[in-house]
Order: sequence, then structure tokens, then C-alpha cells
Amino acid sequence: MALKTKDEYIESLRGMNPTVYMFGERITNVVDNPRLRAGIEATGSTYEAAGLEEYRSLLVTNSPLINDQVNRFTLPPSSIGDLVARVKINRLLGGRVGTCFQRCTGLDCLCALSIVTYDIDQKYGTEYNRRFLEFLKHVQKNDLACNAGVTDVKGDRSLSPHEQPDRDMYLRVAERRPGGIVVRGAKAHQTGSLSSHEIIVLPTRAMRKGDEDYAVAFAIPTDTPGLIHVVGRSTLDMRELQGCDTGNTRYSKYCPTVIFNDVFVPWERVFMCGEVEFAGDLVMKFSAFHRQSHGGCKSGKIDCMVGAALTMMDYNGTSKVSHLRQKVIDMVHRAETLYGCSIAASYEGKRQPSGTYFIDPVLANASKIHEGKEMAEAGRLLVDIAGGFVSDLPSDRDLANPEIGPLLYKYLQGAAGVPVENRVKMLRLVEKLALESADTVSDIHGGGSPEAHRVSILRESDLEGKKGLAKRLAEIESWR
Ligand code: SF4
Repeated sequence: MALKTKDEYIESLRGMNPTVYMFGERITNVVDNPRLRAGIEATGSTYEAAGLEEYRSLLVTNSPLINDQVNRFTLPPSSIGDLVARVKINRLLGGRVGTCFQRCTGLDCLCALSIVTYDIDQKYGTEYNRRFLEFLKHVQKNDLACNAGVTDVKGDRSLSPHEQPDRDMYLRVAERRPGGIVVRGAKAHQTGSLSSHEIIVLPTRAMRKGDEDYAVAFAIPTDTPGLIHVVGRSTLDMRELQGCDTGNTRYSKYCPTVIFNDVFVPWERVFMCGEVEFAGDLVMKFSAFHRQSHGGCKSGKIDCMVGAALTMMDYNGTSKVSHLRQKVIDMVHRAETLYGCSIAASYEGKRQPSGTYFIDPVLANASKIHEGKEMAEAGRLLVDIAGGFVSDLPSDRDLANPEIGPLLYKYLQGAAGVPVENRVKMLRLVEKLALESADTVSDIHGGGSPEAHRVSILRESDLEGKKGLAKRLAEIESWR
């Protein structure tokens, strides 16, 4: 069976040897580094849940491609049911992990490539789809986690890729060899790149004539020579390294910048190379799938935020305060609207020529725009309900100090009978849910900037059809 347990997943990462830097130092043991391990544990939850009896039927299904059971994180959708399951799984895991579990970006690349490689082949007689399916078999048979290498560093935003003074601001083909290509560039915000076995690279934007070297898609192992992962800073990262005050002791998110320093990619792993007119469609499909994914994970995260808000009300003795109960309602309806948009995007999905199903992009983008505003509002409401100790709470190390610890225990009491430790733990979780930068920034920029979501809605909506509705009612028959 092509399924890994969580332990097998973690052991498989131990067998890899990526080049990693963090805070100016080379990291040689990724798996046991506390900062990175918290991210790996989050991705590990996708393996763990697949092995739990209660969630198995949701996460595990048969893949006709390898005729075996697979984790849905390796399965491009071939039905409406598959699209719906993606959102339900993400909501489940968002609630269990309370942060990003980092495995959807790679799946969303697999989904987009399964559609667009077929379309390119139809036009040019290339063999990208065959190569892609061979890669997909490898991913499914070995239950691999993949990461999406999409966001280029972009340099001067007013210039297209080939116009940049430094030609490497967008990842490009630097050399073509008989056996493959050599690529150079850097991809930013690489969610869970070290929790993944493979990195799947797609173009970051639509391209035009002259950009041929930049219209490239491929997949390579995350420890391929020449790949350098530079782990970025996040608001709470030092706490993970120090082992205290983390707020969520198990799971976290990190997003390295990955530099491709002349990396060789064999032709068998190249899924697009020079077909500029397909770059826009590939990134649009990836982004739309990922925006649908967000509707699941972020509604699950709000579930967790609502739980934290209600628990803080219990701990503070405010569970009957009516304006706080109203704020909980405001949090719940935000989760349900976000989830509803993503579920609707799934039910309105359509079969593509390759056989893969694509979601309704307008509904997926509507979900994401909603997320960008409403996750911040959910966080604000959570902090409002929990109280001011979300900031400035004395450290666990002060609580453990024999001289001041007893005084802190006295003054940090809440409702009668609530252990101070529980109140402190829940306040820390609130801090993490509301203020962890690596995840909260993704509410806004994950899957593209808010303006990209808006442009997608404009481009994908049937605007002429809407004008037609208005003109019919106004009894205007001419084209104007
Ligand atoms: Fe998945 Fe993206 Fe949500 Fe992370 S933020 S759990 S990668 S959809």
C-alpha cells in the first residue's frame, strides 16, 4: 500500500540532505531542529490523520493511476466529490493543527499540472503530460509531500521577466543540455520546503514573447545540489528554539526563500519549457486551487480560534457576558462563509479535457478575498474576548522561578477553580493564533496578493451576462 505513517514520513526526511541556512548558520539536522520540526510535525498531521480510523475514509481513496490506496494530498481531483473532499480535509486539519500544515501547495501544483500539461501537448505534440503522470505515480507510490515553488522574487515589478536588469529575478532556464536544463533564480515564501520531499516549480505570472526562458515548470527533490533553503524570521520563532512560551507546542509554519543556484533538472522532470502562452493559465489554475484550499484550512483555524475564545471566557469568568457571546457569533459566521464559498467552488467545478476537475475560480477567489479581511477580524475578535494578557504575559520561565513564581500564580488567577497553568496556556495559544506572522500574513498574501484575487474575479466572471440581465430588465435591446 502506498501510504506512509507519520513516523515513516519523518524518517524519510531524515534520509534527505538539503542545504539549509537559518539565522546565519548552516543547519545540518533539519528533522531535529525545533523550529523546523514544528513545521514537519504540522505536515506530519496529514499522514497521521490518514492513519486514524475516524478520518481514514475522508483522507484515503483509490488512485486509478497506480491502482492503490493513496493519501488525497497526492490526488488531482477527478470528480466533484474529490473537490469537496479537499476542502473538508483542510478544515479538519486546520482545526487540529491551528496553523498551516503545508502540504496543499504541492497538491495544488499537481492539480494544475494535470490539466495544463495535457493542454500543451494537445497544441504542440509535446510529452509533458506523460512525464507529469510518471512523476505523479512516483509521488503517489511513495506518499510524498511536495512544496510549490511559485513566487519569484520579481525584482522591478514594472518590468517583465526578460526586461529585468538582473536576468535572474524570475527563475529561468540558464542552459539547455542534452540531458536536461540548468535553472537559476530564487523562489520566496516556500511554505514547508523542508517538510517536503519534492519541490514543484511553476511560473509565477503570465508571460509573453521574449519570456521563453522563464516559462518553465519542473519537479526536483528538495535536496538537489544547488538548491539552498534560507529559513526566514517569524514573530514567534525564537520561542520554538528556546522551547518555551510557544502557544502551540506541537505545530508551526516556516517559509524559506529557496535559491536555485544553477540546478540541473533532467528532461524527464520538465513539464513546460518555453510555451509562454500557457504560463498564465498554469499559474491561474494553481492559484485558484490554492485559494479553494485556503477556504478549508482557514475556516478550520477559525474553529480553533472560536474554541480558544470560548475557553478564555470560561477561564476569565466572562462566559455569560452578552457582547462577548455576540463576538463569538461574529467569528463563527466568518468561518462558515469562508468554508461555504470554498465548498460552493467545489460543487461548481467542471471537468477539463485531461479528465481533472477544476473548481469555479470566481467562488474560490471570492473565498480568498473574504479570508484576507475576515481572518484579521476573527483575530481581532479573539484578542478582544481573551483580554490584554495576550501580550505581556510573563514567561513560563518566570512562573517556574522559585522567588517570583508563587506571586505570579497568585496574580494570574482567573475564574474560581481554573488552574493558572491552563489559563496561561490558552492565552499563549490565542497569541499564536492571532499573531504568528508566518501564518497570519498568508491570510492576506497566500495564493497571490489581494489585488490578484480581485483581478481574477473580474477576468473570470461573466460580466457581459450580467450586463445582459440589466439591459433585459431596462428593455434595452441594442448593444449599447
Ligand atoms: Fe494548506 Fe495553504 Fe492552508 Fe497552509 S495556508 S494549510 S498550505 S491551504
